[in-house]
Amino acid sequence: MSLDTPPTGCLHTPVLRERGQREVFCGLTGIIWLHRKMQDAFFLVVGSRTCAHLLQSAAGVMIFAEPRFGTAILEEKDLAGLADAHVELEREVERLLSRRPDIRQLFLVGSCPSEVIKLDLSRTAERLNARHGPSVRVYNYSGSGIETTFTQGEDACLAAMVPGLAETQDENLLVVGALPDVVEDQCLSLLTRMGIRNVAFLPSRRASDAPKVGENTRFILTQPFLADTAHALERRGAQRIVAPFPFGEEGTTDWLRAVAKAQGVMLETFDAVTAAPRARARKAVAAHAETLRGKTLFMFPDSQLEIPLARFLARECGMLPVEVGTPYLHRGLMEPELALLPQTMLSEGQDVDLQLDRHAALKPDLTVCGLGLANPLEAAGHATKWAIELVFTPVHFYEQAGDLAGLFSRPLRRRALLRGAAE
Ligand code: SF4
Repeated sequence: MSLDTPPTGCLHTPVLRERGQREVFCGLTGIIWLHRKMQDAFFLVVGSRTCAHLLQSAAGVMIFAEPRFGTAILEEKDLAGLADAHVELEREVERLLSRRPDIRQLFLVGSCPSEVIKLDLSRTAERLNARHGPSVRVYNYSGSGIETTFTQGEDACLAAMVPGLAETQDENLLVVGALPDVVEDQCLSLLTRMGIRNVAFLPSRRASDAPKVGENTRFILTQPFLADTAHALERRGAQRIVAPFPFGEEGTTDWLRAVAKAQGVMLETFDAVTAAPRARARKAVAAHAETLRGKTLFMFPDSQLEIPLARFLARECGMLPVEVGTPYLHRGLMEPELALLPQTMLSEGQDVDLQLDRHAALKPDLTVCGLGLANPLEAAGHATKWAIELVFTPVHFYEQAGDLAGLFSRPLRRRALLRGAAE
């Protein structure tokens, strides 16, 4: 191989596709972080008691803080007469809107039961929009486990919003994916210091700041699971900026460089703005890389963040991925990441027993997995990292790179400490 051959990483690696028993969350869980981001939105799940319990347990203590989500529970009589279910649902919504006048966006979220009985939430949303628009916008999307896995709930939610965004002919940049406010502010500050104006975020914190979109819109994703949202924006004429995702120093730099290039920012300006935070990120990551270097990594499918995170852990922390699983692999979005990921085994979908057999044979030093697998694997002597924390914790961009590495080094450090204490 000549030295100037471009790296292809895992671009041509065959992917093991499995279909079988799965251990994943459904898309309803997205509501937990989406309702925190959209401060005047309410998420009304139309589902069963199972859905309500899922939300309660996933939200933990948040349920005591008058959260902006709830479940309209389908009763047996609703299943018998669909017409009544529509009337009942509209009545619930009216009651909710009169009690909570602060609500500006209402999401009717479909679940397995509502999908199975074919409850047409789009019709309800249309009728409610006619009655309450434009001061309240009513959307609908599905977060059911039959159709969506975990973070796909955010994708379905954002994709549902795109057709309703106002049209513009102005040039603007749209940053897509729900980021914690503090991270969004950091991102905006970096872009502004490069001289990029007219930046908007989807989702916005409030309905009144909703971005506009048109043929002169360029957009960039901050999360790898937003394939449907990307398609919806492209259908509105917007153009996607292709880049790796902003995890770690390298991912953030490549992401910002892609934006800078698309927006015609001079290289010197780009370097001047990024030099100091890059150095800070590298230093912060290095502190954790000591623990992570040379350790093998196995990732069960969960959030679609697995490939970008494995790339970060391998390239910036020196870990050795032995299997990287993802619930879905959208090649179109993932190519820049696959090109950077060192050769490893890739799997898409899941047959959990087969995957556990491979895991047992490989005996990785660190396993990233969902809550349902973490404790049993810990009990079997494996160090695990709960994947759910990766979507609840601020992990994007330079200032969070150290914390991101820390999420993975902590389980290994804790194990070493406990081992030391036992000796
Ligand atoms: S939407 Fe489906 S998978 Fe999710 S909690 Fe409800 S019944 Fe369970």
